[in-house]
Amino acid sequence: MTLKKTPVEFNFPNALLTWFDLHGRKNLPWQQDKSPYRVWLSEIMLQQTQVVTVIPYFEKFVARFPTIERLATATLDDVLQHWAGLGYYARARNLHKAAQSIVQRGYFPNTLPELLELSGIGKSTAGAILSIAFQKSQAILDGNVKRVLTRFYGIAGWTGLREIEIKLWNLSEEITPIERCGDYTQAIMDLGATLCTRKKPRCIECPVSKNCAAFLTDTVANYPSKKSTKKLPIKQAIFLIVQNEQQQIWLEKRPLKGIWGGLWSFPEVETQENAVNWCDKNELIIEHSQFLIQQRHTFSHYHLDFTPMRIDVKSANNFNFHSRQQWQNRALPAPTKILLTQLTEDFL
Ligand code: SF4
Repeated sequence: MTLKKTPVEFNFPNALLTWFDLHGRKNLPWQQDKSPYRVWLSEIMLQQTQVVTVIPYFEKFVARFPTIERLATATLDDVLQHWAGLGYYARARNLHKAAQSIVQRGYFPNTLPELLELSGIGKSTAGAILSIAFQKSQAILDGNVKRVLTRFYGIAGWTGLREIEIKLWNLSEEITPIERCGDYTQAIMDLGATLCTRKKPRCIECPVSKNCAAFLTDTVANYPSKKSTKKLPIKQAIFLIVQNEQQQIWLEKRPLKGIWGGLWSFPEVETQENAVNWCDKNELIIEHSQFLIQQRHTFSHYHLDFTPMRIDVKSANNFNFHSRQQWQNRALPAPTKILLTQLTEDFL
């Protein structure tokens, strides 16, 4: 094993690779055919999302869009529909846009600067694509790797701070080997996902524990350092579940920018008065209305407390009204889908 530079005498990548050969995960769907497209797609899906959640989405997605060309020529609606439920929908929009750029380019980029030009690809994702799909020695620094490195080297300070991030990138680059870099990338991600976990890490089974600063000083629970605790703000909204005489539900396509961009959801207002005005504006005659129990959906940066308001209306035909069959074929945010399913089962 050749290291670019050895930060400590202990050979971190060798220890990790030996462990990976014996215990690493090698049967995940995206590990079977490590094409740049599949590696890229899996890396994007795995951002903020657990492996067990991603597997069925990945399989469904590649069955529908088996090549970059098929993804590039698909409609955004179709792509979003196959993403619905995974969350962080900007990922799907960026994936679609980047697929179109790649097809236009005529080849899958295999250098860091070219990959960074594509929508939704940051330095760590680019590193994973280059190392796993192209066998190039390129470091990564995703959440799992940050956790392993802060513990192994005993790096204090919130990892969202620029100076800490730079330090971690430098370390990651120093220890990324030249040979077997694809396996090494998978190995360090595996270590973070299976042993060096956020809660209850299994240090006794860890291949690098004898040299791990946090383990040796019994301070594993201190790393990574927490951000100074700030409570998430709470936003309120009323979701209008407007149903016509044909028991169809009004859904609107959301703007591409903002939460749930490009997905279909209920109209949203702030007050009951706004709800009445909204019906007037859309020439809907209210027959009956009723508030349902408030629910909470949490985003990374705020809680959304939404109160569903069911409104039965008389209306002229409007293309926004969706039958069950129609809304089942729409890309819906999770709370919309859950409410629609509950409502159609309970009330319709
Ligand atoms: S010894 Fe524990 S804390 Fe250190 S890298 Fe291994 S699992 Fe993580």
